[in-house]
Amino acid sequence: MRTETVLDVRDVTFGYDAAETLLHIDELKIARGESVFLRGPSGSGKSTLLGLIGGVLPPRQGHISICGTEMTGLSAGRRDQMRATHLGIIFQQLNLLPYLNILQNVTLPCRFSALRAKRAGGESQAIAEAARRLIGELGIGEDFLTRNVGTLSIGQQQRVAVARALIGGPDLIIADEPTSALDSENRDRFIELLNAQRKTYNCSLLFVSHDLSLAKYFDRSLDLPQLNQVRAS
Ligand code: ADP
Ligand code: MG
Repeated sequence: MRTETVLDVRDVTFGYDAAETLLHIDELKIARGESVFLRGPSGSGKSTLLGLIGGVLPPRQGHISICGTEMTGLSAGRRDQMRATHLGIIFQQLNLLPYLNILQNVTLPCRFSALRAKRAGGESQAIAEAARRLIGELGIGEDFLTRNVGTLSIGQQQRVAVARALIGGPDLIIADEPTSALDSENRDRFIELLNAQRKTYNCSLLFVSHDLSLAKYFDRSLDLPQLNQVRAS
């Protein structure tokens, strides 16, 4: 059965330099289906925290568990597996792969996780169909599927990044300032679309940004400088 707490961060500290501590998060918990906005000014450690949650950076101490599985102490290979299976990641620079077409970009997580592939339908035909459906729901026509990433507008690329994060029903989407390059109208539309989609697929969301005006779109808002014991003390 899927657990109800998708993310549990406890007493985690991290620093890039052994002599300095950048982050000390006492507790950060996200329940299934919940959307959480995490605000912090530039340089406050938002991307670093997402790197810790994604298992890309190892914490100096503390516990990070994703869907009840403790990430700290796992091998790098197992962490990669956990990330592929449970997380959908939307990067600030989107990180779509330019040498793959849209369909290949969207279905990528299913190549790295058997569970994501299974949830998306199992067979390659069914996975392609799931990608087609997602892209359609996000307002991109089917004729785009075989196109290269470079032929899309930024707004379309962002929708492809959302489809890639959502395919195969990850438990938690982490989004790192994906709207910072957008004007306010497109930014609002993008967040509404992301929220509608994640509700359909029952994914939790952790969305980080420096822009406090976005807080209204989420169930709950947190302030990283307040959450961070290093900065608070
Ligand atoms: P934010 O995403 O909130 O802007 P970051 O997590 O990117 O903040 O960075 C937090 C701090 O850590 C900054 O002072 C930044 O310069 C530093 N930092 C980020 N990445 C590295 C790295 N790979 N090595 C050393 N310092 C880093
Ligand atoms: Mg950042």
